Amino acid sequence: MDWSEFARWGARISEWGRNYHETIRSRPVRAQVAPGDILNALPKAPPSAGTDMETVFADFEQDVMPGITHWQHPRFFAYFPSNATPPSMLAEFLATVIAPQCMLWQTSPAATEMETRMIDWLRQSLGLGAHFSGVIQDSASSATLAAVLTMREKTLNWTGNTQGLPGQAALRIYCSAEVHTSVDRAIWVSGIGQDNLVRIRTSGPKRAMDPAALDAAIAADIAAGLKPAGIVACTGGTGTGACDDISAVCDLAQKYGLYVHVDAAWAGAAMICPEYRDLWAGIDRADSVVFNPHKWLGVQFDCSAHFVKNPDDLVRTLAIQPEYLKTHGQDGVINYSEWSVPLGRRFRALKIWFVLRIYGLDGLQQMIRNHVSWSQELCELIRAAPDYEIITEPVLSLFTFRYAPPEQDDLDVLNQTLVDRINDDGRIYITQTRVNGDLVIRFQAAHFAATREDVLFALEVIQELAADLT
Ligand code: PLP
Repeated sequence: MDWSEFARWGARISEWGRNYHETIRSRPVRAQVAPGDILNALPKAPPSAGTDMETVFADFEQDVMPGITHWQHPRFFAYFPSNATPPSMLAEFLATVIAPQCMLWQTSPAATEMETRMIDWLRQSLGLGAHFSGVIQDSASSATLAAVLTMREKTLNWTGNTQGLPGQAALRIYCSAEVHTSVDRAIWVSGIGQDNLVRIRTSGPKRAMDPAALDAAIAADIAAGLKPAGIVACTGGTGTGACDDISAVCDLAQKYGLYVHVDAAWAGAAMICPEYRDLWAGIDRADSVVFNPHKWLGVQFDCSAHFVKNPDDLVRTLAIQPEYLKTHGQDGVINYSEWSVPLGRRFRALKIWFVLRIYGLDGLQQMIRNHVSWSQELCELIRAAPDYEIITEPVLSLFTFRYAPPEQDDLDVLNQTLVDRINDDGRIYITQTRVNGDLVIRFQAAHFAATREDVLFALEVIQELAADLT
C-alpha cells in the first residue's frame, strides 16, 4: 500500500465511521453470532499472495462486523461503558499514524511531558490534592497490580523482588467482596496468594467494608504473626456500585501503617462533578487511586489514570535500568516505563488532551449529570411498575432490580431468562449480577451519545419481553 492509497482509505474509513455511528441504533447491541461463526469465516491458513484493500475491506464488513458487540451503541447498558468520542478517535488515529513507542522520555519527549500534564489536568478535574502525581496505565488491572506490588515491596523492606516470598510470614491484603476481580489477580500475580486476600464483611446501603471488622481482622493477623501489607478499597464496585468509607479505611491504615489503594475505575469519572465527591470523602489520604477515562469520560480504551502519593515507592518497586534503557545526560527526566509493569507504552495522553479540550469540563460534567439523572428516572419507573423490585438503589447511574411476578418459584432462572431474551432481541444490552446470592438484573447508562429516550426505552423492551415469560 502506498501513501496515496493510505490517504484514500483513511478518508473512506472516516466516512464509513460517520455512517456507522449515525446508523448504529439500527444494529443489535450485542453480537448475534454463535461461538465459532467468525472463526469459521476466516481461512485456516495465512495468504501467500497479497490482495487489494477493496477485497480486505469487503471481507471486514461481511465476516467481521457481524461478530461485533456495539459498545458505542447508545442503548448499551451492560457492564460499564467503554466510551469513545470522535475527538478521542481522531487522536488515536494520529497516535496510530505516528506510532511512537513511549517507554522513555527520550523515545518521545512530547508523550512523556503530555502525560505529566494530562495526569495533572485529570487530578485537578477530579478534585484530588496537589500531592498526587501519576501515570497512564493500559488498564485499572495494571494499576491495581502495581499498587499491590508496591504494598508487597514496602512491607518486605524492598526485598521481595530480589529474594521472593518463601520464608516470609504471609503478607495480608484486605478488601470487601465488592471489589473487582482485578484485585484477586493482582494477589495471584504478586505471589501473595488468594488465601491472604482477607475479605471484610460489608454493611449499610453503600455495601462498605465494616471498619470494626477491618480493624479486628488486621489486629488478629498481627497477633497471629502475619504481615498486613495494605487495603484495597473501592468507590463504585462493579456489581452494584459499592463504596467503601475511604476516611474510615484511611484511619485504620494510619493506625497500622498500611498502604491504601482505591479502585474507582468506573465511578472516578463522575468526580469531575463536585456534588458526587462525597462518595469518596477522604480520598486525599489514600496512597494510590485508579480511574479509567476509558470508561465514562469518552477517552477511549485503553486509558487508565493511576494517581500515586509517593511515586518513589512505585518506581522503587518497578524500575529496572539495563544500560540500553539509560537516558544519559538528562538528569531528572521521567521515564514512565519505570512506573508500570509493561516496558512498551502507547501514546495515550494525546486522546485525553483532545477530549478535555474539545468538550471542556463543562461538557463532560453535563454528560455525566444527564446519565445519572436519566438512570435514576428509569429506576423510579421500574420501582413503580407492577412485578418489579429495586434490589440496590442507584449509585450514580448504576442500580439493580428484579422481575418478581407472584407465584414464581425460581426467580433466578426467570431473571436470567429475561436477560438472555433481552440480549437476543438486541434492542438494548444489559447484564446480570448477584446480590446476597440472588440473581438480579444490573442496569447502568453511561454512553456518551445516549439520550433520555434511549435510557427510558429500556423499560419498554424489558416489559415487552417479560410479558412473554409468564
Ligand atoms: N475495577 C472496576 C471497579 C471495574 O469495574 C473494572 C472493569 O470493569 C476494573 C477494575 C478493571 O478494569 P480494566 O479493564 O481497566 O482492567
